[in-house]
Amino acid sequence: SERVVPESSTLPRQAFDLNSQIRSQFPTLTQMLGDYPLCYLDTAATSQKPQCVLDAMAQYYLHDNANVHRAAHQLSARATSSYENVRDQLQLFINAKRREEIIFTHGTTESINLVAFGLTPQLKSGDLILIDSAAHHANIVPWQELAKRTGAIIKPIPLTQDCRLDLNAYQALLELKPKVVALCHVSNALGTVNPVVELVRQAKAQGALTLVDGAQAVAHLSVDMAAIDCDFYVFSGHKMYGPTGIGVLYGRFEILDTLTPLLTGGEMIKRVSFDGTEFGSLPNRLEAGTPPISAVIGLGAAIRFLQLSLTLEVKAHEAELLQYLQNQLRALGDVHLYGAHSDNIGAIAFNLADEHHQDVGILLDQQGVAVRCGHHCAMPLMQTLNLKGCCRASIGIYTNKTDIDRFIAALASVKELLL
Ligand code: PLP
Repeated sequence: SERVVPESSTLPRQAFDLNSQIRSQFPTLTQMLGDYPLCYLDTAATSQKPQCVLDAMAQYYLHDNANVHRAAHQLSARATSSYENVRDQLQLFINAKRREEIIFTHGTTESINLVAFGLTPQLKSGDLILIDSAAHHANIVPWQELAKRTGAIIKPIPLTQDCRLDLNAYQALLELKPKVVALCHVSNALGTVNPVVELVRQAKAQGALTLVDGAQAVAHLSVDMAAIDCDFYVFSGHKMYGPTGIGVLYGRFEILDTLTPLLTGGEMIKRVSFDGTEFGSLPNRLEAGTPPISAVIGLGAAIRFLQLSLTLEVKAHEAELLQYLQNQLRALGDVHLYGAHSDNIGAIAFNLADEHHQDVGILLDQQGVAVRCGHHCAMPLMQTLNLKGCCRASIGIYTNKTDIDRFIAALASVKELLL
């Protein structure tokens, strides 16, 4: 049936031609910026979108546009079926036990807010929340707000000198029996990867609830809820070749079902009267109001695209390309790399000598090269690294060796200009 999506891992892997099979599907990548072809190295901020995602969204608006779950008419039935099919796709994609464990949100930020708000009645003064020191602000601020509401205490999990999570310090902190442990799977600023299976196992052994921020992982790694075994896993559609405005909260059914809804209103109820309201059951209970229907459908197309692409050797290609990027940056000289390891995923953080990251970014942009500069929504990490900010080059499924060579040549000319 339409609801069944082939497990990418069961299909044979094939060598592939990046330009004709993948890159050609992304209309934005063919543009010129002045005299320069676009060299897009900011995929960690948001990925470009393949034509199939744009087509799926257009198809919904052109033919099936209706609200979901509401009407008896055929358009609504089609919209509802397309919307709910994506929940099934996601269940398979991340290997969740039940479709009700997939909640649609507007993004990773909303997903974490939903959890942090939802846990409010379950925390009390003095309870401990551990947060990864490399976390994105989206995985810090909602916990700080939860701490304000409940009197809970936040402790950061320190990093080692080489920007990995300090496993000894982590174990010592777990001895304090934290109530919640909030981790990132892959750091957005550095591209470092956490051994989440082991980290979650240790946290659960001490009775903690675990949330893993997978915003930078899902487009690059196979993510398996049965293997990671966390209570919550969150990600955004727009970083995995899908549209903006759609995110996912995976939650283990038993704990998800205990969350107090952040949003209340239509769609999430079973019965409403002026004497009181009875909430509906999962997943609707946590999806109040009209959802981002076209974005969900676009995400469905993005998952199909990713699953088909993963039958090609794209993962090995991405890993080789990132290694090549690291090596070329080292070879250029006068470049500081932060947390650069051979097992990083997707991104590399750097500064050119003592030059301001913003100056470097602007000069690269003048040559058609798009990188991100700043604190990368990770100010505590920048403080740990004693930096005001840095540049980040990040790659996606469509990035080719020419992009890396063009970036390195552009950075070489910036170096010549500034140093
Ligand atoms: N967490 C990580 C690791 C991220 O990289 C991002 C986005 O940059 C977020 C959370 C926030 O995602 P969004 O802005 O889509 O809610």
